[in-house]
Amino acid sequence: MSELVYEVRSRFETPALRERYLRWLREGHVQAVIRGGAIEGEVRIEPDGAVVSRYRFASAAAFAAYESGAAVALRAEGRALFSEGVAMERAVTERVMGLSRAPLEVVPVACLRDNYAYLLVDRDAREAVVVDPSEAAPVETALDELGLVPTQIWCTHHHFDHVGGNEAFVRAYPDLVVLGSRHDLEAARIPGQTRGLVDGDEVLFGARSFRAMAIPGHTLGALAFVGEGVAFTGDTLFSGGCGRVFEGTMSMMQGSLRRLASLPAGTRIFSGHEYTVRNLEFAAEVEPESAAIRARLETVRRLRAEDRPSVGAPLADELATNPFLRADEPAVRAFAARRGEAREPDDVFARVREAKDVF
Ligand SMILES: [Zn+2]
Repeated sequence: MSELVYEVRSRFETPALRERYLRWLREGHVQAVIRGGAIEGEVRIEPDGAVVSRYRFASAAAFAAYESGAAVALRAEGRALFSEGVAMERAVTERVMGLSRAPLEVVPVACLRDNYAYLLVDRDAREAVVVDPSEAAPVETALDELGLVPTQIWCTHHHFDHVGGNEAFVRAYPDLVVLGSRHDLEAARIPGQTRGLVDGDEVLFGARSFRAMAIPGHTLGALAFVGEGVAFTGDTLFSGGCGRVFEGTMSMMQGSLRRLASLPAGTRIFSGHEYTVRNLEFAAEVEPESAAIRARLETVRRLRAEDRPSVGAPLADELATNPFLRADEPAVRAFAARRGEAREPDDVFARVREAKDVF
């Protein structure tokens, strides 16, 4: 039969995007998809920056295997990708890589008195990201039990009860990537940190894409890691509450909470501490008429009585019960007004935060 040749011409919106695509090719991800048949491929970059991929198929069946999967993705790459930006890019990444992925797993690991570290788990690769290792021992135990090797540490901020385990991990795994904000890198206050992130930077775990979100207020270098339907919010947004404002200003903290509040309502929130019962007891004082707060408090008390974590609830629950995301609610405004100047949302937030400081 005659040789089948297929050529795809892709123009990349940014050099970074082109570089990434070429990296996928070098790392064999495209080949992984099209190994359903004998296929040879070559890729060249045209003077105008376009990437041309040319594949030779030994049989019609090989072409069909390719056509049914990767070809669609690559054509999408040549067209829709560029107008739809990052989301499309990710969709294409997944399709090009042909992954049938297990759902993302987040495993909370109780540390110290009331902290949580988290394992972000890729079962297929047997790898994990450790988020905020407060101390090494319980995290190591959890990794061992699950048969996972840590490849990255993500630090939401520099406080000792979030990075206390870094040194031990870096000693045990010298290639570990340790991420935190650029602010904290410049201040050299996260042990072992290898990369400083700024707002919007992409962070990859296998094929999964996350984004660093700058959320200053609790500290100036505070970051959230957001993606794949979850957000690690450190000591900024808690279940039912928020962290104390140490390094930033009240309005900075409120701006950070507002950004977190604008994530999709289904986003599961994983915060740095198990403070939820106490937070909701306070919320019930702010909004004594709220049935949502009462119901959530009951649920969380039940979970805690069984020694189960209360973290990981959807953002929608926070929007309905967390007084620090509800500065526009009449009951919250009234609570704030009884405690001083509370005309603007920033003032409302500040009065509620001050009240919580002494609760
Ligand atoms: Zn902290």
